[in-house]
Amino acid sequence: SRPRRLVIVSNRLPFVITPAADGSLVSRPGSGGLVTALLPVLRDRGGVWVGWPGLVDHEADLEAALASAAGKAGYRLAPVALSAEDQAGFYFGFSNQVLWPLFHDLQSLCNFDPAYWRSYCAVNHNYAQAVLAEARQDDFVWVHDYQLLLLGAELRRGGLTAPLGFFLHIPFPPLDIYLKLPWRFTLLRALLEYDLIGFQTLHDQRNFTQCVRALLPELRLTHRGSRARLPDGRQVRIGAFPIGIDAAAFQRQARSPTVLAAADALRAELPNRELILGVDRLDYTKGIPQRLEAFRTALHRHPELQERVTLIQVVVPSRDDIPQYRDLKTRIEQLVGEINGEFTRPGGWVPIHYVYRALDRLDLVAYYRAAHIALVTPLKDGMNLVAKEFCACSVDSDGVLILSEFAGAVAQLQHGALLVNPYDLEGTADAIHQACSMAAAERRKRMQLLRRAVSRQNVFRWVNGFLEAAIASDLDTFPLP
Ligand code: UDP
Repeated sequence: SRPRRLVIVSNRLPFVITPAADGSLVSRPGSGGLVTALLPVLRDRGGVWVGWPGLVDHEADLEAALASAAGKAGYRLAPVALSAEDQAGFYFGFSNQVLWPLFHDLQSLCNFDPAYWRSYCAVNHNYAQAVLAEARQDDFVWVHDYQLLLLGAELRRGGLTAPLGFFLHIPFPPLDIYLKLPWRFTLLRALLEYDLIGFQTLHDQRNFTQCVRALLPELRLTHRGSRARLPDGRQVRIGAFPIGIDAAAFQRQARSPTVLAAADALRAELPNRELILGVDRLDYTKGIPQRLEAFRTALHRHPELQERVTLIQVVVPSRDDIPQYRDLKTRIEQLVGEINGEFTRPGGWVPIHYVYRALDRLDLVAYYRAAHIALVTPLKDGMNLVAKEFCACSVDSDGVLILSEFAGAVAQLQHGALLVNPYDLEGTADAIHQACSMAAAERRKRMQLLRRAVSRQNVFRWVNGFLEAAIASDLDTFPLP
């Protein structure tokens, strides 16, 4: 039988559309691993990607820009319109001031404004209308992430019978935390309208099934929580599908002469022995202040590190419409200033190099390749791709990864990384010291383990794994690479 077409739905389309100098719109493909991995499947099977194009106005030129982007991409792009008001309530409101902090176990940062919830419901309904206009009953619809938890339920309400899959890219919280959500029943019931619900880790999957057991006891869970049977007999599959990266592409780029030259230049500019790298979006889940404190603690506890290490902290601007993000930026810059003020020496050593901007791919890979140590210490993270990208780019197998126990990536990277509790400043400081004094042979052994894990469990496998679980009936059309 004909393989199912794929309908991908995410908050944003995988294209960046920006107004050019002459006022016309230009489109650039997004560069994430998810986009890369879905591309061959979308091209093979045909399909459409539904999402917000990233612009509030420009209605007139949008059609043309999307058509040209779709031409380049090889699949259809269907835009969802969002007003500035939608953005405020649905995106900055419910998605990023309720679901984001709550699902990262930070309920004290939540703003449970009922108006946010109403906007979230309305916008999920709008996305559903856009999907219903595109989807056929013999498609497979794959919905992504926390902005669209209600979409499956809206699609069923709209009469769509096609199989529906959902993948949550962020963590799912433990029962005690989930219970705080005023809309906990509606949201959980809505999720169960999907036929397959995918999480990043077994831990998230377990948290979810615990919530189902506690809040919806009329459901039967079987197979160690990998299947739920609803009272009407319908079955929902539940699984863990840890997302990966396009490891081969990172590795190839890290080996390119341009990156090598840029990495050499970076090392030459900072000629102490160890370059420690942190790369994060500006977000309170990333534990950046705690990391800076741990670095300060390391310089105090292990004074021999002074003038021997440099921390390069890259912070990518993000969500600056939300006050907590602006406060975080202030806090980070204050700490960087304090620590540099305390330790900078006349010889030219500055302990922290702070970069506040988005890097392009080449510069990012050059930083990954130049760094001796990556300090990846989120307080909580669905996966954390930076950790995996660093390993893929450590092509000489001489890098050390220091990784938070609370990153989803720990499930793949625990054998090889130095694991830390990011709240434990002294423990993290000692891990920095340990990484700096690690013998070359041990570095190599650890990094080889990490690189193997990252290249095996890559993003192409992830796409295949999810689709196999979702539509096992046409398994044969998804040969593993
Ligand atoms: N990244 C980027 N520009 C930068 C720094 C990072 O595009 O200047 C990318 C990086 O390659 C990675 C992503 O941003 O793929 C961050 O993903 P991660 O899972 O680590 O965290 P998230 O920001 O999704 O919470």
